[in-house]
Amino acid sequence: MISEKLSKVIRDVPDFPKPGILFKDITPVLANPELSAEVSQTFFDYWSTKNVEGVVGIESRGFIYGLQLAQQLGVPFIPVRKAGKLPYQTIKHSYDLEYGSAEIEIHVDAITKGQRVLIHDDLLATGGTALAAAELIRKIGGEVIGYSFLVELSFLKGQERLKGSGEVHSLVTF
Ligand code: 5GP
Repeated sequence: MISEKLSKVIRDVPDFPKPGILFKDITPVLANPELSAEVSQTFFDYWSTKNVEGVVGIESRGFIYGLQLAQQLGVPFIPVRKAGKLPYQTIKHSYDLEYGSAEIEIHVDAITKGQRVLIHDDLLATGGTALAAAELIRKIGGEVIGYSFLVELSFLKGQERLKGSGEVHSLVTF
């Protein structure tokens, strides 16, 4: 099972990026070409039947498998980035973090009206980032059909926040 393989390889890093946070480090997955290929294949197998018309990847770890998935599905890859990083005309969305707020952007012409996209990121924690990305997509007329993650931290209840706004698929849950 891929979830067992991933749970053995993903590394816990204490006190990163702040004291008290136990960070799930996915770089050992990237360093393992067989496992990494299995990850890509599993994402593809799941989403290939769902009429996906675009993959939105969230900066920066959402770009890694997000681009591969888009290429395998034969659909556009669309980056969502932190404010100030995308070169062309953008629209922004601000959202609250535990302390302060964050702002993400997408190119205004990245999605066509009614385009069925999924949102991909490496990890689902509280769901705040994925929800903000969904807001951004809706602002430019796209339809969010689902959310794809490598890792889900179930104790932070992100699934509950995303409920009703598309299906959620994760390869391993802690
Ligand atoms: P959320 O908005 O769901 O609370 O947090 C998810 C976002 O924070 C994702 O973009 C993810 O990359 C990042 N993130 C939060 N905690 C972790 C972690 O433990 N490991 C990794 N790899 N990313 C994390």
